[in-house]
Amino acid sequence: MALGTEGRRWKLLVAEDELVSRTLLTRLASSWGYEVIAVEDGVRALEMLEGDDPPRLAVLDWMMPGLDGVEVCRRIRDVRREPYIYLIVLTALQEREKLVEALEAGADDFLTKPVQPHELELRIRAGRRILELEEQLIEAREALRELATHDPLTRIWNRRAILEILDKEIARASRKGGTADVCVLMIDVDHFKAVNDRLGHLSGDQILTHVADRIRSGVRRHDEVGRYGGEEFLVVLSGCGEEGLRTVAERIRTGVAERPFNVGDHTIPVTISIGGARMSEGTVEGAATSLIGRADRALYAAKEAGRNRVILEGDPEVQG
Ligand code: GH3
Ligand code: MG
Ligand code: MG
Ligand code: MG
Repeated sequence: MALGTEGRRWKLLVAEDELVSRTLLTRLASSWGYEVIAVEDGVRALEMLEGDDPPRLAVLDWMMPGLDGVEVCRRIRDVRREPYIYLIVLTALQEREKLVEALEAGADDFLTKPVQPHELELRIRAGRRILELEEQLIEAREALRELATHDPLTRIWNRRAILEILDKEIARASRKGGTADVCVLMIDVDHFKAVNDRLGHLSGDQILTHVADRIRSGVRRHDEVGRYGGEEFLVVLSGCGEEGLRTVAERIRTGVAERPFNVGDHTIPVTISIGGARMSEGTVEGAATSLIGRADRALYAAKEAGRNRVILEGDPEVQG
Protein backbone atom coordinates (compact mmCIF):
# COMPACT_ATOMS: atom_id res chain seq x y z
CA MET A 1 0.00 0.00 0.00
CA ALA A 2 1.21 3.48 -0.90
CA LEU A 3 0.58 4.98 2.48
CA GLY A 4 2.81 7.76 3.72
CA THR A 5 5.34 7.38 6.47
CA GLU A 6 2.86 7.71 9.35
CA GLY A 7 0.11 5.80 7.63
CA ARG A 8 -0.93 9.07 6.07
CA ARG A 9 -3.32 8.83 3.14
CA TRP A 10 -2.33 11.14 0.29
CA LYS A 11 -4.86 12.76 -1.99
CA LEU A 12 -4.09 12.32 -5.66
CA LEU A 13 -5.76 14.21 -8.48
CA VAL A 14 -6.27 12.33 -11.73
CA ALA A 15 -7.27 14.53 -14.68
CA GLU A 16 -7.94 12.55 -17.82
CA ASP A 17 -10.64 13.02 -20.43
CA GLU A 18 -10.75 9.44 -21.72
CA LEU A 19 -13.09 7.37 -19.60
CA VAL A 20 -11.22 4.06 -19.92
CA SER A 21 -7.89 5.55 -19.01
CA ARG A 22 -9.38 7.63 -16.17
CA THR A 23 -11.07 4.57 -14.70
CA LEU A 24 -7.88 2.55 -14.93
CA LEU A 25 -5.73 5.25 -13.32
CA THR A 26 -8.29 5.71 -10.55
CA ARG A 27 -8.47 2.00 -9.86
CA LEU A 28 -4.71 1.63 -9.81
CA ALA A 29 -3.99 4.61 -7.56
CA SER A 30 -6.77 3.61 -5.17
CA SER A 31 -5.26 0.15 -4.91
CA TRP A 32 -1.93 1.78 -3.99
CA GLY A 33 -3.65 3.53 -1.11
CA TYR A 34 -4.27 7.00 -2.55
CA GLU A 35 -7.46 8.93 -2.05
CA VAL A 36 -8.18 9.60 -5.71
CA ILE A 37 -10.06 12.60 -7.00
CA ALA A 38 -10.79 12.04 -10.69
CA VAL A 39 -11.84 14.81 -13.05
CA GLU A 40 -12.36 14.82 -16.81
CA ASP A 41 -10.97 18.17 -17.88
CA GLY A 42 -8.36 20.80 -17.11
CA VAL A 43 -10.79 23.42 -15.83
CA ARG A 44 -12.00 21.11 -13.10
CA ALA A 45 -8.43 20.03 -12.37
CA LEU A 46 -7.41 23.65 -11.84
CA GLU A 47 -10.42 24.22 -9.57
CA MET A 48 -9.39 21.30 -7.39
CA LEU A 49 -5.75 22.34 -7.23
CA GLU A 50 -6.57 25.97 -6.43
CA GLY A 51 -9.14 25.07 -3.79
CA ASP A 52 -8.69 24.71 -0.05
CA ASP A 53 -6.68 21.72 1.10
CA PRO A 54 -5.84 20.70 -2.46
CA PRO A 55 -4.39 17.33 -3.44
CA ARG A 56 -0.60 17.67 -3.32
CA LEU A 57 -0.08 15.13 -6.11
CA ALA A 58 -1.60 15.34 -9.55
CA VAL A 59 -1.47 13.18 -12.66
CA LEU A 60 -2.59 15.33 -15.58
CA ASP A 61 -3.28 14.18 -19.10
CA TRP A 62 -1.71 16.63 -21.56
CA MET A 63 -4.49 16.54 -24.17
CA MET A 64 -7.80 17.48 -22.63
CA PRO A 65 -10.64 19.69 -23.82
CA GLY A 66 -10.74 23.21 -22.40
CA LEU A 67 -7.50 23.58 -20.47
CA ASP A 68 -4.82 21.04 -21.33
CA GLY A 69 -2.58 19.49 -18.70
CA VAL A 70 0.41 21.68 -19.47
CA GLU A 71 -1.69 24.83 -19.18
CA VAL A 72 -2.91 23.59 -15.79
CA CYS A 73 0.76 23.26 -14.72
CA ARG A 74 1.49 26.79 -15.89
CA ARG A 75 -1.45 28.31 -14.02
CA ILE A 76 -0.69 26.43 -10.81
CA ARG A 77 2.92 27.56 -10.83
CA ASP A 78 1.79 31.14 -11.49
CA VAL A 79 -0.41 31.37 -8.43
CA ARG A 80 0.61 28.88 -5.80
CA ARG A 81 3.90 28.78 -3.94
CA GLU A 82 3.03 26.74 -0.86
CA PRO A 83 2.17 24.02 -0.35
CA TYR A 84 3.98 22.67 -3.35
CA ILE A 85 1.96 20.51 -5.71
CA TYR A 86 3.80 17.75 -7.52
CA LEU A 87 2.61 17.53 -11.13
CA ILE A 88 3.03 14.55 -13.43
CA VAL A 89 1.97 15.01 -17.05
CA LEU A 90 0.83 12.11 -19.23
CA THR A 91 1.73 12.39 -22.89
CA ALA A 92 1.02 10.43 -26.01
CA LEU A 93 4.10 9.20 -27.87
CA GLN A 94 3.94 11.89 -30.55
CA GLU A 95 4.11 14.63 -27.93
CA ARG A 96 7.43 13.48 -26.57
CA GLU A 97 9.47 16.09 -28.41
CA LYS A 98 7.39 18.82 -26.80
CA LEU A 99 8.41 17.70 -23.31
CA VAL A 100 10.53 20.78 -22.83
CA GLU A 101 7.36 22.80 -23.04
CA ALA A 102 5.76 20.74 -20.27
CA LEU A 103 8.81 21.09 -18.03
CA GLU A 104 9.00 24.81 -18.69
CA ALA A 105 5.35 25.10 -17.75
CA GLY A 106 6.20 23.63 -14.37
CA ALA A 107 5.59 19.91 -14.68
CA ASP A 108 7.79 17.88 -12.35
CA ASP A 109 7.68 14.67 -14.31
CA PHE A 110 6.04 13.05 -17.31
CA LEU A 111 5.00 9.61 -18.44
CA THR A 112 4.26 8.34 -21.91
CA LYS A 113 0.98 6.59 -22.50
CA PRO A 114 0.12 3.78 -22.30
CA VAL A 115 1.23 4.05 -18.70
CA GLN A 116 3.09 1.15 -17.12
CA PRO A 117 1.40 0.75 -13.71
CA HIS A 118 4.54 -0.04 -11.75
CA GLU A 119 6.41 2.88 -13.28
CA LEU A 120 3.54 5.24 -12.45
CA GLU A 121 3.47 3.98 -8.88
CA LEU A 122 7.19 4.68 -8.48
CA ARG A 123 7.00 8.13 -10.09
CA ILE A 124 4.19 9.15 -7.75
CA ARG A 125 6.20 7.82 -4.83
CA ALA A 126 9.16 9.95 -5.93
CA GLY A 127 6.83 12.95 -5.88
CA ARG A 128 5.78 12.09 -2.36
CA ARG A 129 9.39 12.09 -1.25
CA ILE A 130 9.80 15.61 -2.63
CA LEU A 131 6.68 16.76 -0.82
CA GLU A 132 7.81 15.21 2.45
CA LEU A 133 11.15 16.94 2.08
CA GLU A 134 9.40 20.24 1.47
CA GLU A 135 7.30 19.76 4.59
CA GLN A 136 10.40 19.14 6.67
CA LEU A 137 12.00 22.29 5.28
CA ILE A 138 8.92 24.35 6.08
CA GLU A 139 8.80 22.92 9.59
CA ALA A 140 12.47 23.75 10.12
CA ARG A 141 11.93 27.25 8.78
CA GLU A 142 8.93 27.81 11.07
CA ALA A 143 10.92 26.55 14.04
CA LEU A 144 13.73 28.99 13.20
CA ARG A 145 11.26 31.81 12.83
CA GLU A 146 9.80 31.00 16.23
CA LEU A 147 13.29 30.95 17.73
CA ALA A 148 14.23 34.25 16.13
CA THR A 149 11.14 36.13 17.28
CA HIS A 150 10.18 34.63 20.62
CA ASP A 151 11.60 34.65 24.08
CA PRO A 152 12.45 31.03 24.91
CA LEU A 153 11.47 31.34 28.58
CA THR A 154 8.11 33.08 28.43
CA ARG A 155 7.16 32.27 24.81
CA ILE A 156 6.08 35.85 24.17
CA TRP A 157 7.75 38.15 21.58
CA ASN A 158 11.40 38.84 22.21
CA ARG A 159 12.81 42.34 22.41
CA ARG A 160 13.66 42.63 18.73
CA ALA A 161 10.26 41.35 17.61
CA ILE A 162 8.21 43.60 19.90
CA LEU A 163 10.25 46.63 18.81
CA GLU A 164 9.60 45.70 15.19
CA ILE A 165 5.90 45.43 15.95
CA LEU A 166 6.00 48.88 17.54
CA ASP A 167 7.69 50.35 14.46
CA LYS A 168 5.09 48.76 12.21
CA GLU A 169 2.21 50.04 14.33
CA ILE A 170 3.64 53.57 14.21
CA ALA A 171 4.06 53.38 10.43
CA ARG A 172 0.55 52.01 10.03
CA ALA A 173 -0.99 54.68 12.24
CA SER A 174 0.81 57.45 10.38
CA ARG A 175 -0.31 56.08 7.02
CA LYS A 176 -3.87 56.25 8.27
CA GLY A 177 -3.37 59.92 9.14
CA GLY A 178 -3.81 59.83 12.89
CA THR A 179 -0.64 58.96 14.75
CA ALA A 180 -2.04 59.32 18.24
CA ASP A 181 -3.51 55.88 18.69
CA VAL A 182 -0.30 53.92 19.32
CA CYS A 183 0.46 53.41 22.99
CA VAL A 184 3.03 51.49 24.96
CA LEU A 185 3.12 50.14 28.48
CA MET A 186 6.46 49.43 30.11
CA ILE A 187 6.09 46.90 32.91
CA ASP A 188 8.64 46.00 35.56
CA VAL A 189 8.25 43.35 38.25
CA ASP A 190 8.53 44.83 41.74
CA HIS A 191 11.35 43.70 44.00
CA PHE A 192 12.08 40.75 41.81
CA LYS A 193 15.60 40.45 43.07
CA ALA A 194 14.13 39.55 46.47
CA VAL A 195 12.12 36.72 44.85
CA ASN A 196 15.29 35.32 43.30
CA ASP A 197 17.20 35.70 46.54
CA ARG A 198 14.52 33.81 48.40
CA LEU A 199 13.65 31.02 45.95
CA GLY A 200 16.57 30.83 43.53
CA HIS A 201 16.71 31.75 39.86
CA LEU A 202 14.91 28.68 38.55
CA SER A 203 11.80 29.41 40.59
CA GLY A 204 12.24 33.05 39.61
CA ASP A 205 12.13 31.94 35.98
CA GLN A 206 8.91 30.06 36.60
CA ILE A 207 7.30 33.08 38.17
CA LEU A 208 8.39 35.24 35.23
CA THR A 209 6.64 32.81 32.91
CA HIS A 210 3.43 33.01 34.94
CA VAL A 211 3.66 36.81 35.09
CA ALA A 212 3.98 36.90 31.28
CA ASP A 213 0.88 34.68 30.98
CA ARG A 214 -1.13 36.96 33.22
CA ILE A 215 -0.01 40.06 31.35
CA ARG A 216 -1.08 38.40 28.15
CA SER A 217 -4.51 37.57 29.50
CA GLY A 218 -4.95 41.19 30.61
CA VAL A 219 -4.48 42.78 27.20
CA ARG A 220 -6.96 43.04 24.36
CA ARG A 221 -6.81 40.53 21.54
CA HIS A 222 -4.87 42.71 19.11
CA ASP A 223 -2.40 44.10 21.66
CA GLU A 224 1.09 42.62 21.57
CA VAL A 225 3.27 41.66 24.53
CA GLY A 226 7.03 41.23 24.46
CA ARG A 227 9.85 40.66 26.90
CA TYR A 228 11.87 43.83 26.79
CA GLY A 229 14.60 42.75 29.19
CA GLY A 230 15.12 40.61 32.31
CA GLU A 231 11.93 41.22 34.29
CA GLU A 232 10.63 43.96 32.05
CA PHE A 233 7.82 43.68 29.54
CA LEU A 234 6.64 45.95 26.76
CA VAL A 235 3.04 46.05 25.59
CA VAL A 236 2.18 47.68 22.26
CA LEU A 237 -1.43 48.82 21.93
CA SER A 238 -3.24 50.62 19.19
CA GLY A 239 -6.65 52.15 18.96
CA CYS A 240 -6.94 53.14 22.61
CA GLY A 241 -7.51 56.61 23.96
CA GLU A 242 -5.96 57.68 27.24
CA GLU A 243 -8.76 56.15 29.31
CA GLY A 244 -8.57 52.92 27.31
CA LEU A 245 -4.85 52.75 28.02
CA ARG A 246 -5.38 53.23 31.74
CA THR A 247 -8.11 50.59 31.80
CA VAL A 248 -5.94 47.97 30.09
CA ALA A 249 -2.95 48.84 32.28
CA GLU A 250 -5.02 48.54 35.46
CA ARG A 251 -6.40 45.22 34.31
CA ILE A 252 -2.87 43.92 33.74
CA ARG A 253 -1.71 45.21 37.11
CA THR A 254 -4.58 43.68 39.09
CA GLY A 255 -4.33 40.45 37.09
CA VAL A 256 -0.83 39.97 38.49
CA ALA A 257 -1.43 41.33 41.99
CA GLU A 258 -4.79 39.74 42.80
CA ARG A 259 -3.56 36.17 43.31
CA PRO A 260 -0.18 34.95 44.51
CA PHE A 261 1.89 32.58 42.35
CA ASN A 262 2.53 28.96 43.24
CA VAL A 263 5.99 27.55 42.68
CA GLY A 264 6.83 24.27 44.33
CA ASP A 265 5.64 24.53 47.95
CA HIS A 266 5.77 28.30 47.92
CA THR A 267 2.99 30.80 47.46
CA ILE A 268 4.52 34.07 46.36
CA PRO A 269 2.69 37.37 45.98
CA VAL A 270 4.07 39.41 43.10
CA THR A 271 3.24 42.91 41.95
CA ILE A 272 4.22 44.95 38.93
CA SER A 273 4.61 48.63 38.20
CA ILE A 274 3.47 50.05 34.89
CA GLY A 275 4.35 53.21 33.01
CA GLY A 276 2.44 54.20 29.89
CA ALA A 277 2.74 56.70 27.05
CA ARG A 278 0.75 57.64 23.96
CA MET A 279 2.18 58.72 20.69
CA SER A 280 1.64 62.37 19.98
CA GLU A 281 0.37 63.65 16.63
CA GLY A 282 2.76 63.94 13.71
CA THR A 283 5.98 62.60 15.16
CA VAL A 284 6.84 59.44 13.26
CA GLU A 285 10.59 59.97 13.16
CA GLY A 286 12.08 58.61 16.37
CA ALA A 287 8.58 57.97 17.68
CA ALA A 288 9.33 54.52 19.05
CA THR A 289 12.36 55.64 21.04
CA SER A 290 10.51 58.63 22.34
CA LEU A 291 7.47 56.55 23.34
CA ILE A 292 9.57 54.01 25.19
CA GLY A 293 11.54 56.75 26.91
CA ARG A 294 8.39 58.45 28.10
CA ALA A 295 6.82 55.19 29.26
CA ASP A 296 10.06 54.45 31.10
CA ARG A 297 9.90 57.78 32.92
CA ALA A 298 6.31 57.06 33.92
CA LEU A 299 7.40 53.61 35.12
CA TYR A 300 10.15 55.18 37.20
CA ALA A 301 7.56 57.50 38.74
CA ALA A 302 5.38 54.47 39.54
CA LYS A 303 8.32 52.86 41.36
CA GLU A 304 9.02 56.09 43.23
CA ALA A 305 5.39 56.43 44.22
CA GLY A 306 5.46 53.04 45.97
CA ARG A 307 5.21 50.36 43.19
CA ASN A 308 2.19 48.16 42.30
CA ARG A 309 0.62 51.01 40.37
CA VAL A 310 -0.03 52.46 36.94
CA ILE A 311 1.25 55.88 35.98
CA LEU A 312 0.79 57.41 32.55
CA GLU A 313 2.82 60.26 31.12
CA GLY A 314 1.09 63.49 32.02
CA ASP A 315 0.03 62.19 35.45
CA PRO A 316 1.11 64.55 38.23
CA GLU A 317 3.62 62.03 39.63
CA VAL A 318 5.77 62.27 36.51
CA GLN A 319 8.36 65.03 36.74
CA GLY A 320 8.51 67.34 33.71
P1 GH3 B 1 12.33 47.04 41.51
O1 GH3 B 1 12.21 46.77 40.05
O2 GH3 B 1 11.01 46.97 42.18
O3 GH3 B 1 13.03 48.33 41.76
O4 GH3 B 1 13.20 45.90 42.17
P2 GH3 B 1 13.90 44.70 41.46
O5 GH3 B 1 14.51 43.83 42.49
O6 GH3 B 1 12.95 44.03 40.53
O7 GH3 B 1 14.94 45.47 40.56
P3 GH3 B 1 16.39 45.13 40.09
O8 GH3 B 1 16.57 45.79 38.76
O9 GH3 B 1 17.34 45.50 41.17
O10 GH3 B 1 16.43 43.58 39.87
C1 GH3 B 1 15.87 42.92 38.80
C2 GH3 B 1 16.03 41.48 39.10
O11 GH3 B 1 15.43 40.68 38.10
C3 GH3 B 1 17.47 41.09 39.20
C4 GH3 B 1 17.62 39.91 38.31
O12 GH3 B 1 18.28 38.88 38.96
C5 GH3 B 1 16.19 39.50 38.03
N1 GH3 B 1 16.05 38.92 36.72
C6 GH3 B 1 16.21 39.52 35.52
N2 GH3 B 1 16.04 38.62 34.52
C7 GH3 B 1 15.74 37.44 35.11
C8 GH3 B 1 15.47 36.13 34.61
O13 GH3 B 1 15.44 35.87 33.40
N3 GH3 B 1 15.23 35.14 35.50
C9 GH3 B 1 15.25 35.38 36.84
N4 GH3 B 1 15.00 34.38 37.66
N5 GH3 B 1 15.52 36.61 37.33
C10 GH3 B 1 15.78 37.62 36.50
MG1 MG C 1 -6.56 13.31 -23.41
MG1 MG D 1 12.08 45.06 38.92
MG1 MG E 1 14.03 45.90 35.99
